[in-house]
Formats: sequence, structure tokens, C-alpha cells
Amino acid sequence: INNADLAMYNVKNRGKNDFEFYNINMRNKLSKEMLVKALKEDELELYYQPKVNGLTGDITGMESLLRWNHPEKGFISPVEFIPIAEETGLIISIGEWVLKKACEQTKRWNLMTNSTLVIAVNISNIQFRKVDFIEMIKRVLKESGLNPKYLELEITESVAVNNEEEVIKKLIMLKRLGVSVAIDDFGTGYSSLSYLQKLPIDTLKIDKVFVDDIVKDDTIAKMIINMAKNLEISVIAEGVEREDQLNQLLKIGCESIQGYLFSKPLSTEKFEELLIKEQQI
Ligand code: C2E
Ligand code: CA
Ligand code: CA
Ligand code: CA
Repeated sequence: INNADLAMYNVKNRGKNDFEFYNINMRNKLSKEMLVKALKEDELELYYQPKVNGLTGDITGMESLLRWNHPEKGFISPVEFIPIAEETGLIISIGEWVLKKACEQTKRWNLMTNSTLVIAVNISNIQFRKVDFIEMIKRVLKESGLNPKYLELEITESVAVNNEEEVIKKLIMLKRLGVSVAIDDFGTGYSSLSYLQKLPIDTLKIDKVFVDDIVKDDTIAKMIINMAKNLEISVIAEGVEREDQLNQLLKIGCESIQGYLFSKPLSTEKFEELLIKEQQI
């Protein structure tokens, strides 16, 4: 019996409200077991999306993006399973696994192609808030042997805004380690930006929603770029799909880009092929 069958059973026998309640719980329960199994049985895989200099086309780094290939259900999106990993606490072990894989791979690629690629790793609020978060980062850096200057953590605005004392302490410790920090999905979360002056942030990542409309209206993107310049923070635009968006971004002073225009997220093998190809040009 699968989830869909259970759902049908409940629709028929218990009415809509019960069905919704039951189905959500079943889904979480199944998913937690599935996630544990996924971790054990190597169903999780990291993909890498290049970050490029939009002027030169040079690859400067990449973002690691988690993929789950379930043997029966097929591909499950991180948008679906990350929240479940967070609710169940499994994000702690999954997150450390991701970081370790990503750091090891980057160390290999930098050696192999004699480059200085920076790996950006997504960090969940739940990971960041753990008391031993910095210890975990140090441990993984040590185990992987990656120079900390090639690691960037992508956190969301909600981390930066909440819990200030603790957050500032941790960000300062990261800075001391030599790890950089980017604010992901920038501009979507909070109206107050005063936290930016207080926090040692290296990069603002302009959210895709502002890139989508940028050719028609670049007000917000411009504002973010100017603010970042004043604060001596760098910017990158995500979700760049078209040439006209790239041109507009270059025009208003954002050179660093990520998006389908240059490349979708790639498997380790495909990303490596791309690196080798780029190196030969
Ligand atoms: P995100 O960190 O904002 O990542 C960007 C998402 O946009 C990725 O989706 C990426 O594949 C997609 N994307 C990149 N360029 C384009 C583009 O040009 N057009 C469009 N339409 N989409 C583009 P993905 O890989 O499905 O990941 C979704 C979200 O899942 C991520 O959003 C992130 O919040 C979360 N996530 C993924 N991997 C991890 C991870 O290892 N740890 C944690 N905590 N979260 C992760
Ligand atoms: Ca991200
Ligand atoms: Ca993002
Ligand atoms: Ca996003």
C-alpha cells in the first residue's frame, strides 16, 4: 500500500479533513524512515551549479545542491524533503554529510585543475543554531583538508535576523576561521536591513524573483547592489536564465551570476567534464 492508496482510502472513508490530517502525518512518518534509509543506502547525491563571472564566463565556484533519487518514487525535490529533514532533526546528519562531500570534492577539483574554486554550501537554520555548529565546521574542514578560504556558507535572512548575540558570535568565529558567509534569497525575507551593518557578511545573493523581472524593473536589484557596495559586501544574482537579464545585471554592477543561462546544476561527473572543458579553452 502506498501513500496515494492510503489517501484514497481516507477520502472515501473519513472525509476531507481527516484525510488531510492523516495523509500529512503518514507522509512525514514514511519520509523520516525513507530519509534514514536514503542516508544509509546512498540515495542522496550532490549536484553542483557553477557560479560564473558574467563578463568573462570564468567559473569562480559552485553551489552544492542536494538530490534524492528514491529507488521507487524516483527523484524527490529538496524543496519537499529538506523541510522534513528539518522537522525530524535529520538535517543535522544530512547537513554534515553534504558539507563533507562538498569540501572533499572541492579539494579534489582544485588540485586536479589547479584552480581556486569556492564551494557554497546551503546551511539550514536548524544547523546554524546548534551549539556545536562551529565545531562541526572545524571538524569537516580538518577531515576534508580543504582550505577554509574555499568554503562559503549560504544562510538565509531569518538566521541573521533572529537570535542576534549567538548569531554574531558564530559569524565572527567563521570569519576568524576564514570561511565566508552569504545571505541566500536576499530581499525576500525581512524589511529591516539594519542587521547587515552589524554582521560580518561577505556576500548578498539576490533572489531569483528580482532577477525574473529585472529587464522590466531593476529597482530592487539596483538597491541591493548599491547597498552592498556601500557596505563593502559582494553580490551575486541567482536564477539568471536569459541573456537580457545578464546584460541588465552587468549594467547595474553585478558581475557574479548563477543560473540556467550558464548551466543547470550538474552531477559530479558532468561538472568535472565542464571544468576540464573550460580549462582547455
Ligand atoms: P536555493 O538555495 O535558493 O537554490 C537555488 C535553487 O534554484 C536550486 O533548486 C537550483 O537548482 C535552482 N536554480 C538555479 N538556477 C536556476 C534558474 O536559472 N532557474 C530556475 N528556475 N531555477 C534555478 P533546488 O536544487 O531544487 O534546491 C531548492 C532549495 O532546496 C534550495 O534553494 C535550498 O534552499 C534547498 N537545498 C538544496 N540543497 C540543500 C542542502 O544541501 N542543504 C540545505 N539546507 N538546503 C538545500
Ligand atoms: Ca542557496
Ligand atoms: Ca537562493
Ligand atoms: Ca531559494
